[in-house]
Amino acid sequence: MTTATARTKTLDLIGNTPIVLLEGPSKAAGCEIWGKCEFANPGASVKDRAALWIIRDAEARGELLPGGTVVEGTAGNTGIGIALVANALGYRTIIVMPDNQSKEKMDTLRALGAELVLVPPTKFADPNHFVHTSRRLAEETPGAVWANQFDNVANRRAHIDATAPEIWEQLGGRIDGFTCAVGTGGTLAGTGMGLKAFDENIRIALTDPHGAALFNYYAHGELKAEGSSVAEGIGQGRITANLEGAPIDTQFRISDEEGLVWVARLLREEGLCLGLSSGINVAGAVELGRQLVAEGRENPRVATILCDTGFRYLSSLYNADWLRAKNLPVFDWLG
Ligand code: PMP
Repeated sequence: MTTATARTKTLDLIGNTPIVLLEGPSKAAGCEIWGKCEFANPGASVKDRAALWIIRDAEARGELLPGGTVVEGTAGNTGIGIALVANALGYRTIIVMPDNQSKEKMDTLRALGAELVLVPPTKFADPNHFVHTSRRLAEETPGAVWANQFDNVANRRAHIDATAPEIWEQLGGRIDGFTCAVGTGGTLAGTGMGLKAFDENIRIALTDPHGAALFNYYAHGELKAEGSSVAEGIGQGRITANLEGAPIDTQFRISDEEGLVWVARLLREEGLCLGLSSGINVAGAVELGRQLVAEGRENPRVATILCDTGFRYLSSLYNADWLRAKNLPVFDWLG
């Protein structure tokens, strides 16, 4: 079943994304696994929602005035979302990013009209880290606001106000579990809070990549990272303001290899070209589905997030040389 709607403003294209039943994951879990198609946003990722809510919030607080500037430290999807929303509303965008990021991302941000400020990659404690540099630039630039996606809770409000009610409505109020990975935590905390407001029995699970510290935090109360991951946009080492009070009931840890299996299968069997964070989310959703089935919940339904498009990773995830260099399995059709 599909419905198509007319919109009168381009910004109304953000959100109200379709949700799709994923066949392979559903078979693997023994229950329904649904994927929220966030690659269908204009900037092709879930972060368009945070960008819109953060900018609207800055306007509502009177901090962002006509002709103003939005500054953010980010290499990826948030920058793309901010640049598009800022263009639609007549603001300037300044994006600060480490100079070791992919050329594709720099080219995309420049193509959208963002001003790029490149800084050397450093540790968070270094005052020249891209996050601190972006805050300073926002303070020094007249008429500028700092988006501050990690600790600005307008980010998670996007998912409390919109993502969660959309999922609830799209699934006819029948949903047993929700899971996704964390970058800022906006999607997991906000969607979790929003869904619990409809039904507190909906199980909210963290799906953590290797190399992140949150699995251990929610399992044992200790922020401790183990291993590593090449997944972009996820993998957090601290409790951001967006994560504070997140209603997390259980947690799974998923490897890049497990995520890549679903990236490959969803592409070849279901025609979905996704990034690795989506594959990791689907692997987590299968775990959550199996857990609910094992506990005897009847025909449970689990939802997760298909965060962004695989077209953003042609020179990495979909490149045989790159995969080999990372010691990851190469998709057989890439040779
Ligand atoms: N996947 C990708 C590809 C992302 O860019 C992000 C955002 N950093 C996420 C997942 C996680 O979203 P959030 O910041 O809401 O935790």
